[in-house]
Amino acid sequence: MDFQDKTLTCKECGKDFTWTAGEQQFYQEKQLQNPPARCKDCRSARKQSRFGRSDVQFEITCKNCGKQDTVNFKPRDPSSVLCTECFRKERQAGEGQVKEEPAESQVKEESAEEKVKEEVKEKKE
Ligand SMILES: [Zn+2]
Ligand SMILES: [Zn+2]
Repeated sequence: MDFQDKTLTCKECGKDFTWTAGEQQFYQEKQLQNPPARCKDCRSARKQSRFGRSDVQFEITCKNCGKQDTVNFKPRDPSSVLCTECFRKERQAGEGQVKEEPAESQVKEESAEEKVKEEVKEKKE
């Protein structure tokens, strides 16, 4: 089947763009059902924003030093967010203490509970 260049309208910017015969062939080879909805410019812009981090910046005011900063995640509580610097410092400072946290005992408790459940099961049978 021969392909011919088609003119499509970009749903992002509304401009007409050419869906070339070569691209149509590529789409068929890849068994893509839908023609491209966006022009090349918009597609590459979307790709960049998806993979780049620049579009997910949230402005915060550091609760520690009051500095304005941007973070690349949506803060759960914007009033208790640290700037990058303070966050790093706090994490470094907390690292020693975190090890003291008895995370293991929690796991043990859980598995003990599991055992009880298993025993109950056995008794029922
Ligand atoms: Zn476009
Ligand atoms: Zn800070």
